[in-house]
Formats: sequence, C-alpha cells, structure tokens
Amino acid sequence: MLEVKALDVRYGPVHAAKGVDLSVKPGELVALLGANGAGKSSTLMAIAGVVPRAGGSVTFDGRDTAGETPEALSRRGLAVCPEGRRIFTALTVGENLSLAEAAHGKGQDAASAARKDALLGRFPVLAERLHQKAGLLSGGEQQMLAVARALLTGPRMVLMDEPSLGLAPQMVDEIFALIEEMKADGITILLVEQNVPLSLEVADHAVVLANGRVALAGPASELSQGDAIRRAYLAAE
Ligand code: ATP
Repeated sequence: MLEVKALDVRYGPVHAAKGVDLSVKPGELVALLGANGAGKSSTLMAIAGVVPRAGGSVTFDGRDTAGETPEALSRRGLAVCPEGRRIFTALTVGENLSLAEAAHGKGQDAASAARKDALLGRFPVLAERLHQKAGLLSGGEQQMLAVARALLTGPRMVLMDEPSLGLAPQMVDEIFALIEEMKADGITILLVEQNVPLSLEVADHAVVLANGRVALAGPASELSQGDAIRRAYLAAE
C-alpha cells in the first residue's frame, strides 16, 4: 500500500533522512522506531507531503505521491495524525472535528453526520465535551481528538507521529488500545513511536532508524527477542 524508496530529507545542511526504504502492506501496522533525532518524524512528514523530499520516491496505492499536497493525499485515503496533536485549542471539540471534515470537502451530508455520530460513540469523552474548548482537554484527551479527527475522513491508512508522547501511563495504554482497534478495523498504519516495547507488541513489522538511515528492519515478533534493537539504538549514540 505504501512503498518508500531511498527517501532523502534535508533541512539546509541537515540531512535528516538518508535513503530510507520501507514498505507497508494493506492492513499492516509498521512501527518506525529510533532515538531522538534519528529522522522518524522527518520521514513520516515527507511521506505525508508536509515536508519536501530531497530524493527518493513514495508510492501510495500504486501511484507516486510526488507533488501531492497533504490535502490531496488525505482525499486519496492517507490521513496524518501529527506529533504534538496540532489541534485548535481555542476552538471547541466539535469545531475541530467540523473543520477536519470541511478541509476534506465533507460534513454537509447525512453520511458525514452518521460517520461523526459513530465516531463520537467510540470516543465518549469527546462526545461529552463537544462544546468545550479543546485547550481545556487533558493531554490524553487532546490526543484522542487528534486521532478522531484523522479517522473522521474515513482513511484507509494513517500516519501517526508519537501518539503516546508525554501521556500518563494509563492514557498510553488507552492510545495503544485504540491503535489496535484501528488495525482490527482494517486501517493500515505507520506508527512513529518512542515506546519501543508497546510498539513491538502491536506492530507486524518494525523499522529502526539511526542517524537518518535504516539500521534494522524485520518482523516485530523477531525484533522483540534478543537485543538487536538495543544495539541499533546504541549504535546511534
Ligand atoms: P524526535 O523523536 O526527537 O522527534 P525524530 O527521529 O523524529 O526525533 P526528526 O525530528 O526527524 O527526528 O529530526 C531529524 C534531524 O533533523 C534532527 O537532527 C533534527 O534536529 C533535524 N530537524 C528536524 N526538523 C528540522 C527543521 N525544521 N529544520 C532543521 N532541522 C530539523
């Protein structure tokens, strides 16, 4: 479903991703791991079309994404759940969701209303606080809102950037339970995370980046055995 070949990302003199190869098959969950500054977010954001690529190719559903905006990709079924939530804290929960629909050219019809109702059924905490300012939600609730917003457009694939970052342990468990639910619903996921043990539990495959390069890749069940991951992290230091 997603094929990334020899992806390069540069910020001026900083070479953040150096020839990254990875692929995600339909229905699969791939974890993209690595130490701080390894290039995970840069890789994810280049796939999403948010950050320009300096080289390589990204193919989504058999079509090269070169020149496609994040909005165009989202209309093709590829949603992004960015790091730091990026929700509008001065707007209400409901307004945040409506904006996401509007940006996607949806929200006016009965099908949109039904989808939103179903989604709110799944996120009761958001349903209860629909008219509250999103900035008043806890960190975990804001993350739920970010995930709900990504799911609202009915994506086939979601790129998630550090969804558990900064959350209390119980919220981390909830977020990972939600990720497992999304996978069970057939949504294909590329997950950037710093929580290695939990990521390996939910992932089919994992790719470890070190200094912008793929240092290790393989089935999550194999990588969770032995200390290859630890060595890949240490090699980056
Ligand atoms: P973290 O977990 O800390 O977010 P990461 O693995 O996601 O790390 P990136 O955020 O992709 O790593 O950063 C990779 C490298 O690119 C780092 O050296 C970082 O300082 C640099 N970098 C990231 N964004 C920018 C930017 N906008 N301008 C310049 N350098 C950047």
